[in-house]
Amino acid sequence: MKSLPYFCRGEVVRGFGRGSKELGIPTANFPDSVVDNLPADISTGIYYGWACVGNGDVYKMVMSIGWNPYYKNTKKSMETHVIHEFKEDFYGQILRVVMVGYIRPERTFDSLEALIVAINGDIEEAKLKLELPEHHKLKEDNFFISAASSSAVPSTTPSTSETIVNGH
Ligand code: ADP
Ligand code: MG
Repeated sequence: MKSLPYFCRGEVVRGFGRGSKELGIPTANFPDSVVDNLPADISTGIYYGWACVGNGDVYKMVMSIGWNPYYKNTKKSMETHVIHEFKEDFYGQILRVVMVGYIRPERTFDSLEALIVAINGDIEEAKLKLELPEHHKLKEDNFFISAASSSAVPSTTPSTSETIVNGH
């Protein structure tokens, strides 16, 4: 896929309550505006990459891009599971992600247990792949750094020249 790595951001919206949180695998949904901007060569399936909520830290993630049954499978959905335990929900916050690589196509499962086993396998694969040095570079990308620095308060007032160099 020539569009990878693919960077995008959007507000976390409510999904259709398919109970992913009950499975222990909550997925943060992007709004249609983000989904509609996906390049044509990004196919449905499971991806791995990096994610950041608001101005928080950057964590590993797995994302499912699939056909949305709510729209009679005419519209895609993008659902991100951030591999981190959050204390609270983050609906309404800005989620930034970079999709780094593809794990597998979408498929159906005979049972909930089989689905959970597959997702946990995806999470393990994402964790391993993202350890590669070339993928770690994307974690440090300015796309994420600018999110954090915009709210950071410097411990000392920078000199004028530093202000000009860093100030934007
Ligand atoms: P919905 O159907 O509204 O998407 P989910 O059961 O999939 O409901 O839960 C998703 C929500 O859970 C996210 O929008 C977010 O606010 C919250 N959440 C908490 N922890 C995580 C996490 N590690 N990854 C993704 N979402 C999380
Ligand atoms: Mg969800």
